Amino acid sequence: MTGMVLCDSCGKREAEIYQPHTGRRLCRQCFIGDVKERTLAEVRRYGMIRPSDRVLLALSGGKDSFVLLDIMAETHDPSKLVGLSIEEGIAGYNRREDMEKIRKYASERGVDVIFTSIREHVGHSLDEIVARSQAQRLNVSPCTYCGTLRRRIINQYAKILGVDRTATAHNLDDEAQTAIMNILRGDPVRLIRQHPLAPRLSRRFVQRVKPLRKIYEWETTMYSYLKGFRFQETECRYIEMRPTLRAKVREHLYKLEEKHPGSLLRLLELVDRLVEKTLDRYRGLPELPACRVCGEPTSYNRGVCKVCELLSRIGVLADL
Ligand SMILES: [Zn+2]
Ligand SMILES: [Zn+2]
Repeated sequence: MTGMVLCDSCGKREAEIYQPHTGRRLCRQCFIGDVKERTLAEVRRYGMIRPSDRVLLALSGGKDSFVLLDIMAETHDPSKLVGLSIEEGIAGYNRREDMEKIRKYASERGVDVIFTSIREHVGHSLDEIVARSQAQRLNVSPCTYCGTLRRRIINQYAKILGVDRTATAHNLDDEAQTAIMNILRGDPVRLIRQHPLAPRLSRRFVQRVKPLRKIYEWETTMYSYLKGFRFQETECRYIEMRPTLRAKVREHLYKLEEKHPGSLLRLLELVDRLVEKTLDRYRGLPELPACRVCGEPTSYNRGVCKVCELLSRIGVLADL
């Protein structure tokens, strides 16, 4: 008879999950507890969410958003939480039926979810936007339209609802990729804006937080499986059209992490510490100017914001 391997944390239950970055073998309960504790430690470290805060949770219906909802509903007053699901309008992806699952889970936890769609705000689905862009041979990736519009829609709801924070479910893999991309582009300002303590450049931006930024993607997947979440597993069909740089960085980081577990965590921690030393230089900057078209904040050097620019190039007028 082979003896069962005991959990390195509690020493009582059977170990079922190997965590490469710590070298520990954990039981289900201790693994879930570890993900929760690390999430809360990150939230506290940067004061991301105060107990009195009303928080808008961006819920796509994917595994990361289930984990965000689960941890937030357990550690924050659920009556101060509200979910927002945005249907992109990508054939076969994030349909209302898929989103219904996260709404059901949220309502069991006492959290209401608002449904909306890109079409509702722009008059066109993402598929239609991409088709228009391709017809004009514009070199803009679907992810750029999607990400830019989603960010704007989330911020608009946050203002209407009067919440104090918006929380997205970006994980460590996402954040490490973004950090490397910002470094490769030689863009220190974006690197700084990625930091949880980055100064807000406009009163019209509701503070965004990413509680899962130090949790690996494999961990949110494992957490979701262990908890039996019925998350959307279909891949977005634009994944192959994802910006080349991100796809390459993702592939390299994946290999690096496999050979040297803990690399992504150490990378983001180092970037955080370095950025913290320079944050003071970026305080007291003037408020971002308003876009000539929509009145929302735009960069210092551009009169028209990214949303208006992207939409006007494909001949779409939106009230956003
Ligand atoms: Zn254990
Ligand atoms: Zn604009």
